Amino acid sequence: MQDYLIDYINLDTLLKEDEIKLRNYVREFVQKEINPVIDQHYVNGTFPLDLVKELGKQKFIGSFINGYSCAGLNAVKHGIICQEIERGDGGIRSFLTTQDCLSMFAIYKYGNDVQKNKYLPKMAKGELIGCFGLVEEKATSNPMQMTTTAIKDGNKWIINGKKKWITNAAISDICILWAKTNDGIKGFIVEMDKDGIEIDRINSNISLRSFITAGISFKDVVIDDSDRLPFANGLKAPLACLTEIRYGMAWGAIGAAIECYNLALNFSKEEILFGRPVASSQLVQRKLVNMLTEITKAKAITIQVGREKEKGKNFRHEMVSMVALNNLTKALDIAREAKEIYGINGISVESKIIRHLLNLESINAYEGINDIYILIIGRDITGFQAFF
Ligand SMILES: Cc1cc2nc3c(=O)[nH]c(=O)nc-3n(C[C@H](O)[C@H](O)[C@H](O)COP(=O)(O)OP(=O)(O)OC[C@H]3O[C@@H](n4cnc5c(N)ncnc54)[C@H](O)[C@@H]3O)c2cc1C
Repeated sequence: MQDYLIDYINLDTLLKEDEIKLRNYVREFVQKEINPVIDQHYVNGTFPLDLVKELGKQKFIGSFINGYSCAGLNAVKHGIICQEIERGDGGIRSFLTTQDCLSMFAIYKYGNDVQKNKYLPKMAKGELIGCFGLVEEKATSNPMQMTTTAIKDGNKWIINGKKKWITNAAISDICILWAKTNDGIKGFIVEMDKDGIEIDRINSNISLRSFITAGISFKDVVIDDSDRLPFANGLKAPLACLTEIRYGMAWGAIGAAIECYNLALNFSKEEILFGRPVASSQLVQRKLVNMLTEITKAKAITIQVGREKEKGKNFRHEMVSMVALNNLTKALDIAREAKEIYGINGISVESKIIRHLLNLESINAYEGINDIYILIIGRDITGFQAFF
């Protein structure tokens, strides 16, 4: 496809040469490694575990972290990786960002040197998988309601409680666990082979089928104080990790939207109805124009937020809420419009559209629902918190 049909107002001029090169490289990787296998994994409800080490070899895991076998890339390059991986599949992007934006980031930001050296290089290479245990059955958008506890006993901690909907849990070696203590919420690195841990894999999801979520129960699980993240105190710590994954989700949504738009544009030009290509209908053109316009706007604001994140000084987490809110909402609309253009063909797995659409329905629900992004931005601009 000609470049201007994807990059209509030359937004690539906002990117550096090596960022465009990286985008092309990741795109080729996705075409070679993800696209050929993903439909079958989706249908079977299986996660392509072989891909993990490959993602590590390519240095796509923890790409934004400096040192510890990570690539140390800038925020826009990190975003580009998320965008291109989600062009392949939102489940694989979700695996990746749970591993790095949540689990590795928690250790990187709140861990000590011993913990960082022990876990981060192996996680970057895909030799060790992490999950992030924050949400519980009755503590979802309000994690303060969590009932999982960590009780200090000498230089040990005793953990009891249940986490739900935890990505990667069934394939994880470690869990970054958030629990209530006598001194507020704290984070712990829990190795998953400890006595008292049980995994309850969730198989009932009919979206994001190519990745794995599970419940985790902790019954009198004993861990050393040296496994506590020493610099994580209070809810601010897990919320900072959520900002990282929301940033990855915002870029990822653009990838899914681009894929749906490209597929719909090509389909509409080739499919003949009433003796003429579907693309020659005014109603279809309206949809395609709307899709491209929304993708263009999403790309522009997301690159800008990425640049602010790189500069750091005036970056605020609310900016991420704004791009996540916009991009996820628009990507869902775009996927729905693409499905309409495809007609009944759009519901078959071969079309790829329905997979992206269903994935986006779930992605829209995790790590902050639209309503929550609105409340975060609303609090920022009015000074009033409206959560309760
Ligand atoms: C595929 C998937 C993977 C996940 N992976 C993880 C993971 O790895 N680790 C983890 O800890 N969690 C994970 N989760 C859980 C996820 O973070 C929760 O789904 C999320 O916190 C929202 O919870 P909920 O969907 O139960 O919605 P709820 O919090 O129950 O909200 C229900 C509805 O009420 C609205 N609402 C909530 N509060 C307010 C308010 N104050 N004002 C107005 N409206 C409000 C919401 O917007 C929503 O529409 C995952 C979830 C999914 C679906």
